[in-house]
Amino acid sequence: AKRGGKSNCVFYNPDMDAAGIDRLELETDLRRALERKELQLYYQPQVDSRSGSVVGVESLVRWLHPQRGMVSPAVFIPLAEEMGLIGDIGNWCLHQACVDMVSLKGIDTDLSKVAVNISALQFDPRLIEQVDDALARTGLDPRSLSLELTEGIAVESGDQPLNTMHGLKGLGVQLSIDDFGTGYSSLGYLSRFPLDELKIDRSFVDGVERENQQAALVAAIIAMSNNLGLEVVAEGVETSEQFRHLTGQGARIFQGYLFSKPLPLEELHEVLRPGRFA
Ligand code: C2E
Ligand code: CA
Ligand code: CA
Ligand code: CA
Repeated sequence: AKRGGKSNCVFYNPDMDAAGIDRLELETDLRRALERKELQLYYQPQVDSRSGSVVGVESLVRWLHPQRGMVSPAVFIPLAEEMGLIGDIGNWCLHQACVDMVSLKGIDTDLSKVAVNISALQFDPRLIEQVDDALARTGLDPRSLSLELTEGIAVESGDQPLNTMHGLKGLGVQLSIDDFGTGYSSLGYLSRFPLDELKIDRSFVDGVERENQQAALVAAIIAMSNNLGLEVVAEGVETSEQFRHLTGQGARIFQGYLFSKPLPLEELHEVLRPGRFA
């Protein structure tokens, strides 16, 4: 059953199970999380294997719930999407990532970009204005901002997604396709859309060192990306075997626990030292 839209009233339903009540509590708390400053961005390094330097960081939102502790974005982002809160939360993430990136300006690094995840529900023409606003208010160089879009956006039919992408490119930011290979992609869109980067999903990286089929798929994605002039980021790299295989297939940018888990901004400085992973 649908719950009462914008109303904050919650009516007790005797049929509601424990999970339902738990979810209601979580929803009520999520509505207040932003104003109570309970959201925080963590950053996961992206390492260029040629230099051993961190060249990018992906911002990953965290919710520090006063009672529950850390709530995973895999839980609360879908909730925020259903509740109509993703616009505000997404905009906060966008702005905060720009603020944090600007704050790193003074230190000696090879860092050239911060990536921000964009929910499919955030992806409409208004996003252009929001990105423009975040850049203007923080003074971040647009080239230092990369937006991670999902395949779902890209395969949507009609001109709207394409127009929005061109609007964003017009601001000078970079566009990346997240979790590549997991959606319903036609390869056709890769050449049609103004993209800069593909991120190979962890599900492909996992097994690349054992399974021939995985390896063949990943090799094809990397070769295709190189031919199309797209940067490739291999995600979820956990072992040196995976790293070695992917390097052999031509991958150069790596993100995963092998190098670093996502870190709060204060802990990022140490890993940003040029050649830190050489
Ligand atoms: P994602 O964008 O695909 O992010 C990668 C996820 O994989 C992150 O989980 C990251 O911590 C995790 N990860 C990184 N390296 C490894 C590894 O080597 N092994 C394994 N097993 N996992 C690894 P996280 O931070 O829990 O985020 C989960 C998802 O929540 C993200 O998947 C993204 O879809 C969403 N999300 C996170 N932050 C945001 C945000 O600010 N906005 C939006 N719209 N979505 C977000
Ligand atoms: Ca992502
Ligand atoms: Ca991903
Ligand atoms: Ca994912």
